[in-house]
Amino acid sequence: MFAPETLMPALAEVEAAYELFGGDAHWQSEYRRLLETYNGRPTPLYEAVNLAARLTGGRARIFLKREDLNHTGAHKITNALGQALLARFMGKNRLIAETGAGQHGVATATAAALLGMSCDIYMGTIDMERQKPNVFRMGLLGARVVPVESGGKTLKDAVNEAMRDWTKSVKDTHYAFGSALGPHPFPTIVRDFQSIIGTECRAQILKAAGRLPSEIVACVGGGSNAIGIFSAFIKDNGVKLIGVEAGGKGLRGNQHAVRLTPSPHAKPGILHGAYSYVLQDRDGQIADTHSVSAGLDYSGIGPEHAHLFDTGRATYTFATDKEAVGAFKMLCETEGIIPALESSHAAAYVIKQAAKIKKDSVIVINLSGRGDKDIESVAKFLGTDI
Ligand SMILES: *Cc1c(COP(=O)(O)O)cnc(C)c1O
Repeated sequence: MFAPETLMPALAEVEAAYELFGGDAHWQSEYRRLLETYNGRPTPLYEAVNLAARLTGGRARIFLKREDLNHTGAHKITNALGQALLARFMGKNRLIAETGAGQHGVATATAAALLGMSCDIYMGTIDMERQKPNVFRMGLLGARVVPVESGGKTLKDAVNEAMRDWTKSVKDTHYAFGSALGPHPFPTIVRDFQSIIGTECRAQILKAAGRLPSEIVACVGGGSNAIGIFSAFIKDNGVKLIGVEAGGKGLRGNQHAVRLTPSPHAKPGILHGAYSYVLQDRDGQIADTHSVSAGLDYSGIGPEHAHLFDTGRATYTFATDKEAVGAFKMLCETEGIIPALESSHAAAYVIKQAAKIKKDSVIVINLSGRGDKDIESVAKFLGTDI
């Protein structure tokens, strides 16, 4: 909890309220009802037979946890609904959030519309320009998008501005962090809300394969979809947990967002209220990042991943932009599923490892979102004009 003094009372209030919220039967059953009837949970676990045949000749089984089938197209709505209910539980009627590509902004605006709350989304002006449809979408949902002109005018700056708003507005406002990031208790809260991915997946794989998976692969931006699916398997030491970061244009230079695979720019540091690994320059300034997928393009990483990395319980690796786009195409062609570019990084790792996959392995890829939002980026990457 490395936060400015002015935020400490707000964080203490959220921590205490969250404790009560977790034990409140009425609010918990309301959350479950929304997850089932509105969010679309449980999401299916689908066996990707064609992909497994292509990559392993049927030596191994590959399953996709279909988070792309959630309302609004990714796992983010599951956290947004939880935090909106928590805000209501605390008697607050306004939600604020940061957004980069707009996915968390859309999810938060959706939850706010559903629960009748007012909603302000902080977004860098460069991101607003790049993501016009999502800016319009948030407006349709009744949210106000607040343009952020400071710093690099992207996600990092949007978080700064949202935190600044919160120091002044905490009486009636809840800050709904979009990933397992930020000061305690947010990494815990977001992990808990997303842990339903792992809980569902554990029951589903036992039913489908009659055993636990050999490995679980998930992409890691801030880390919420990965920690969500990992959490149910952390005690199962036989299950390998693999986080895939954005390798961007490769590890030479700073055109990537690789914070845990040992890389010269990633060092322990404090960013947005948490002590974790942070990409920084020689002077300790936060370094810029690059990824073809906006959701993985962040200099910090959720502190629980830093812990899993340090203890060796999870392994972290990366896929480049090119590898991710290759995986994107392969999933389209073999399975008829257009995956998010973020999720394509997880699939890219499995493709890269294909020759080494042992016979009878059972692999689960967390397909964090759908890729309709990414069509333009992919076309641009491939040099096509649409
Ligand atoms: C936002 C996003 C991510 C990255 O965020 P995490 O908190 O690391 O999960 C990954 N996939 C999709 C589809 C996203 O929208």
